[in-house]
Amino acid sequence: MENEEKISMYLLPNGKNLYIHTKVKAIFSNYIQIHSKSHESGGFILGYENAKTGSIIIDELTVPQKKDTHSRYRFSIKDKQHFIDMNNFRKKESFFLGTWHTHPQDRITPSFIDWIDWKASMRNESPAALYMIFIIVGRQEIAVWAGNRQTKKIIRIKEVSINE
Ligand SMILES: [Zn+2]
Repeated sequence: MENEEKISMYLLPNGKNLYIHTKVKAIFSNYIQIHSKSHESGGFILGYENAKTGSIIIDELTVPQKKDTHSRYRFSIKDKQHFIDMNNFRKKESFFLGTWHTHPQDRITPSFIDWIDWKASMRNESPAALYMIFIIVGRQEIAVWAGNRQTKKIIRIKEVSINE
């Protein structure tokens, strides 16, 4: 099916797969930071871990809201609408997995602040999967990191072709 081909697959450190739903990729594409003067956007990543296969599926996001703070280089989730949306998605069995934001870069390098934020998230939040997921949406790529809840190690994971 055409839709399935558009799902992105990434390889987790434990050899299982992470899938990004087509719908989620479509939302990301609305927020690509094309102009370097536009502001960073972001929100929560939601989905679930398949208990049988160990795959992680990202199927929902929260998106930027009025009371969030934006700058060219940092996005902070402040608006309570993110939490209201997250509660509603939970009823549809889509749970907190991590965070996403945009960068005005073709190829992504996380900032020093990103690493500080991600490490704090690893300490303070509990994702509904073995890994907490951090995504940065750039102009040419969607870059994904997986943070192991047990070891707290955060490493970048690679996209793999779904048709092989
Ligand atoms: Zn960043």
